[in-house]
Amino acid sequence: MTGRFDSIIVGAGAAGLTAAAFSRGRTLVLERLAKPGRKLLATGGGRCNVTHDSNAVEVMEAFGKRGRFATDALRAWDPGAIRAFLEDGGVECVVEADGCVFPRSGKSSDVLNVFLAAAEAAGARIRCGVRVVRVVTDDSGGEVCGVETSDGEIFHSPKVILATGGKCRPGLGSDGSGLEIASALGLEVVPVYPALGSLEIAEKWVGRLAGIGLPDASLRIAGRGVKLLEARGPILFTHRGLGGPAVLQISGDVAQALVAGVNLVSAEVAFVGGRDACGWREIFDGWRHAGGAKIVRNLLSESLPKALAAELCVLAGVPGALVAANLGREHARRLSELCSGCPLTITATDGWDAAMVTRGGVALKELSPRTMESLKVRGLHCVGELVDLDAPCGGYNLTWAFASGRLAASALAR
Ligand SMILES: Cc1cc2nc3c(=O)[nH]c(=O)nc-3n(C[C@H](O)[C@H](O)[C@H](O)COP(=O)(O)OP(=O)(O)OC[C@H]3O[C@@H](n4cnc5c(N)ncnc54)[C@H](O)[C@@H]3O)c2cc1C
Repeated sequence: MTGRFDSIIVGAGAAGLTAAAFSRGRTLVLERLAKPGRKLLATGGGRCNVTHDSNAVEVMEAFGKRGRFATDALRAWDPGAIRAFLEDGGVECVVEADGCVFPRSGKSSDVLNVFLAAAEAAGARIRCGVRVVRVVTDDSGGEVCGVETSDGEIFHSPKVILATGGKCRPGLGSDGSGLEIASALGLEVVPVYPALGSLEIAEKWVGRLAGIGLPDASLRIAGRGVKLLEARGPILFTHRGLGGPAVLQISGDVAQALVAGVNLVSAEVAFVGGRDACGWREIFDGWRHAGGAKIVRNLLSESLPKALAAELCVLAGVPGALVAANLGREHARRLSELCSGCPLTITATDGWDAAMVTRGGVALKELSPRTMESLKVRGLHCVGELVDLDAPCGGYNLTWAFASGRLAASALAR
């Protein structure tokens, strides 16, 4: 297959396959894993949260201030257009209560198949098991000539779309090699951190609650040199700490703080979101007056999971057999403080193997937002998670991968 192509796409993930689906001419897609779209299949717990039920502006806002960079990509292919593309391919979508859009079948493989069929229809050839190690340029370094693989094979093309993803979940394909390739070409790469992951907690009792979830908790994260972070939503106790949607929201910032050398980041967790210490005190006062002979630990299990209630009573020094009538002021104070702001020590995030998204990547200032083309190396386009944009859960990251892949392909087709 060694030869000349009109364009080469490195990576058959969400962004690369979209670029292939909209490619023109002789297009070659090179993918390091044995099959395309491995990560796409794993998204949304295998259901694939393809996009969000919103418009281009709302998606941009989800990426924060830098989201404006995505204006052209998202205006050209917004969430409605992505859904229409999938529905044309026979995949009906449904919107869940929180605005997340999934295929009605609940199968990410259906989504992958639409992109594979479109890539095939466009005439793109996908070759798997090929790892690209370098983008080849002319002598000046200013113009793309092709790519080199780990076997030393050269594929020639004046256009290369780097769609390698970032660095998280290397088992699903993105191992950071795209960042190295871009950096070797002289493109600035903003330091990367694992985002949308879990937190490791020093306090041993937390691990004993592994598997227990709370539907609505609040988290406040503080540390020397860390801006105060707050999140609210479901949390999940894990063997090593805390996970769940509320934790995912802030894990990227925590990873950044830990790497920056803040070695003591503390969290305060309110186990019932929005209920402060006064709220709990009122409840405990009510027990004292009405609960009488009922055991405090059992009463607390009416508001919190039984095992958590038991751990909190131990931490507050409340004896296991203490009845509500005998709950003294000091015990009530300690218990209410723990329920509304339990202090925990964050030692780490769970790293690249578990994070869902890479924060950082190819600097936005290196790329044209109209074409995703490098401003330094002509013919080189960077798309998807490789680029320094990341958003919370909700289908936004895939929306960006799809839209940026399509924008680059459209620019090449012109
Ligand atoms: C478990 C999980 C669940 C997720 N769920 C959702 C969700 O439901 N909704 C959502 O919006 N986002 C979700 N995300 C995030 C989303 O999947 C990514 O942001 C998105 O897939 C990025 O697309 P991409 O094409 O840029 O990169 P990737 O999907 O990572 O694809 C990059 C591809 O390039 C290949 N590659 C890498 N380096 C090379 C190389 N040197 N040579 C050849 N090939 C290479 C890789 O093997 C891979 O196939 C989830 C992420 C994870 C990990």
